[in-house]
Amino acid sequence: MKKIYYCPICGRELIKSEIEGYCFQCSYCDEDFTESEVIIKTEENNEKEK
Ligand SMILES: [Zn+2]
Repeated sequence: MKKIYYCPICGRELIKSEIEGYCFQCSYCDEDFTESEVIIKTEENNEKEK
């Protein structure tokens, strides 16, 4: 199951952080986050076929 990580401040999707000690970065807020700080959603509901 694919996980998607979102910014807890603005709700945008996060990119991987290049800063040591952080996992994710929001390019909009210019903030870095650890995995425990971010909003994690799974994609299970988007994979249903008709
Ligand atoms: Zn943000």
